[in-house]
Amino acid sequence: MILMEKNTETENKPLDFIRQIIADDLATGKHRKSITRFPPEPNGYLHIGHAKSICLNFGVAEEFGGTCNLRFDDTNPSKEDISYVESIKEDVRWLGFNWGEKELYASDYFQTLYEFAVSLIKRGKAYVCELSPDEIREYRGTLTAPGKNSPYRDRSVADNLKLFTAMKNGEFTEGSHVLRAKIDMNSPNLNMRDPVIYRILYADHHRTKDAWKIYPMYDYTHCLSDMLEKITHSLCTLEFQDHRPLYDWVLDTLETPCHPRQIEFARLNLSYTVMSKRKLLRMVDNDHVDGWDDPRMLTISGLRRRGYTPGSIRNFCRTIGIGKSDSRIDMAVLENEIRSDLNVNAERRMCVQDPVKLVIDNYPENQVEMVEGKNHPQDPDKGIRPLPFTREIFIERDDFMDDPPKKYFRLGPGREVRLKYGYLVQYLSHKVNPETGEVEEIRCTYDPESKGGFAPDNRKVKGTIHWVSAEKNVPVTINMYDRLFNVEDPEADKDVDFLEHLNPESKVVLKNCIAEPDVVNLSVGQNVQFERLGYFCIDSVESTTDKPVFNRTVTLKDSWTPNK
Ligand code: ATP
Ligand code: MG
Repeated sequence: MILMEKNTETENKPLDFIRQIIADDLATGKHRKSITRFPPEPNGYLHIGHAKSICLNFGVAEEFGGTCNLRFDDTNPSKEDISYVESIKEDVRWLGFNWGEKELYASDYFQTLYEFAVSLIKRGKAYVCELSPDEIREYRGTLTAPGKNSPYRDRSVADNLKLFTAMKNGEFTEGSHVLRAKIDMNSPNLNMRDPVIYRILYADHHRTKDAWKIYPMYDYTHCLSDMLEKITHSLCTLEFQDHRPLYDWVLDTLETPCHPRQIEFARLNLSYTVMSKRKLLRMVDNDHVDGWDDPRMLTISGLRRRGYTPGSIRNFCRTIGIGKSDSRIDMAVLENEIRSDLNVNAERRMCVQDPVKLVIDNYPENQVEMVEGKNHPQDPDKGIRPLPFTREIFIERDDFMDDPPKKYFRLGPGREVRLKYGYLVQYLSHKVNPETGEVEEIRCTYDPESKGGFAPDNRKVKGTIHWVSAEKNVPVTINMYDRLFNVEDPEADKDVDFLEHLNPESKVVLKNCIAEPDVVNLSVGQNVQFERLGYFCIDSVESTTDKPVFNRTVTLKDSWTPNK
């Protein structure tokens, strides 16, 4: 039997509310084609939450024959960096999406955005304000108290134009002047109380260098960038719902020829992790993790190093769907996606994590016999590989007990077990290190008639264990990764820093593992199942020793319990 990968992409699922709106707009002829965009700010690496937005925006384009732009929202030069731009492009591509000829940048529109601001001033809809940031906050009022007009609100158009030009020319200090939209200081929506749309910033921009001394704010930039790109549906997360009136106000006031529709959906929250880039950056900067692509991080690059496949992440995003209310998805949902992907696609190999020697007394010394290992139990097309069988082998320390309970079907005094693809072996004796009390060596006899692990007389041998030849093998290192936090919601308690909840055992390095010789043929990034241990992928090869280093992607079964 060949296991086919479940093709969930073509599964008939009812459309989510966003896809329904788009389908309706295409059916009624409101739009001939959908144009969406993914607008990351290049101030960090992308995480699994971004994957949800990427799969939605690019997914819509694929499904409806539209296009999706990759647009960098690069309006905050003090936090942005070209390295983030590169990592974001790599991650979107790796997830399997294309953004057409070239990526776009909000900074490409700086001149146009400036001209729109001048137009707002001329329409009497924007003014230069000299209140300090603190005063602006104070004047804004609160949810229950109305705001107060700035004393600079009624300047003449001519004065505003002069001052805005001076701001642009670098004649003022940072924070001394801002350009504000003139809307309504009594609006119940705080975002509409004369929001700042331009500020002075003397920072080197990664693309425009020092050409600009003023930078447009997000809310002002975003709607106009969408408009300039003729975006039909501007999909963003729920926290922007209260910003939508401002989005619409800017476009309405400027009477732009095109007016994209902003639609909000629930952001992804995942248990046992934090999602905000600001928090991820803190973990990177303070060395709580080994960089943005640490395999424990829920960044796209971290998941890639961990051994996640693009398909598993896309399937995950499809499974969780698109809704309108915030919720927390269980980490197990993500883990199940990679598990079911690798169960079908990863080849099997053998590796012993915590080796103890087993000597087969009646097996000829110096004999190396090749037995056949199946690369996949259900998929014969994946072929077989030769496994060297020798008199001395390694088995897992916990596959032997000198006083086993009844339900323990592995090796122990009086027991017989099957060495997978090898032979049946019968316990003979074992040696214990008198100082440590640890089992040092186990002796067995084998049944020469049982090659391949088949009992010649059909006798019942319940236990099957994995093994690796003690003579022909490859030493490997395994990074055992576990969840980064040991509580479901590290941010739940506002009085406790989320870093207090880091799981101290999230990375355990096992340096004495022994794998079958064939692992040298695996390439970096390749996924594999080590029989009975879990799913792994090659992270790297140690430069001094040539020793392959594996990352554990996920366990074979969902057996996770907090603080185990
Ligand atoms: P963070 O809060 O992690 O810093 P952000 O929203 O500031 O993220 P952006 O670079 O502005 O990061 O995000 C780009 C796009 O990805 C936005 O449209 C945003 O709504 C979306 N996005 C960010 N986080 C999530 C999430 N957890 N779930 C769904 N979409 C998200
Ligand atoms: Mg943002």
